[in-house]
Amino acid sequence: MFFFFVKDKPKPVEYRIVYDFKEDICLEYGYKYMFTPISKKDSCFSPYIRKISKVNGNKYEGMSLPHDTNSNWTMFGKNLVLTIDDSYDFEQTRRMFELLKHYNITATFFPNTIFINPNNQEHIKLWRDIYASGHEIGYHTTDHTRKKSVVELNTDFISFTQRFREILDDNNFSIKVVRAPYGYFDKVWMQWVKENNLFNVRWSMTESEDSNYLRKLYSENRGVVLLLHNKRSDVELLENNIDEYISIAKENGGKMGSIYDSLTK
Ligand SMILES: [Zn+2]
Repeated sequence: MFFFFVKDKPKPVEYRIVYDFKEDICLEYGYKYMFTPISKKDSCFSPYIRKISKVNGNKYEGMSLPHDTNSNWTMFGKNLVLTIDDSYDFEQTRRMFELLKHYNITATFFPNTIFINPNNQEHIKLWRDIYASGHEIGYHTTDHTRKKSVVELNTDFISFTQRFREILDDNNFSIKVVRAPYGYFDKVWMQWVKENNLFNVRWSMTESEDSNYLRKLYSENRGVVLLLHNKRSDVELLENNIDEYISIAKENGGKMGSIYDSLTK
């Protein structure tokens, strides 16, 4: 007869949920929370550490991407990419941000810096809140005009980036995703994109298409990139349709989010 004396296995680390993600301020503010174990000694403390993940061009380091969505529309898998262009209407930009916050959904914003007043604290606060909430900011030119040369684009891109570094008070802010104003993806634009190793993002759906069109895009296995603008009618359109968009994405095994959040990694 043998007796085995086995040392007690270490007990698994205890986790304790203090906050219910769905019910408390976590949802209201749209923050992402990271799970961390706590010792019994520290059990009076919340096991969550607030984790706000800011997204900018640096996040794309090490990812292999084509220079244009046209090369491979399947890179977003079944996700519904939400992109929101222009920023000439401050109130509607803020409404759009509040709507996304309510649904805890990220988007990629393509603003123009001439519409952001660095002396207006409300403007500064909104863009800092957008950035701090995990939304992405892409290049759409400083002034929403078509540039005629690569040199002109380079100069404008540098000044756009610099302006946003000041607005966001973040010297590490950088940009990977770009979209030409009016969708002028001409030779100059594409050459500049390639030379600077940027990522040109087109769209496959706008405010003119309905949810049947969205289902069609999914059934044809084409990438879904929704283009909206920061204008009243688009904010209202999203308000009225966001539940359906989210559920169609979900039915297909995807979710709705920014370009960065939608790339299958
Ligand atoms: Zn635009």
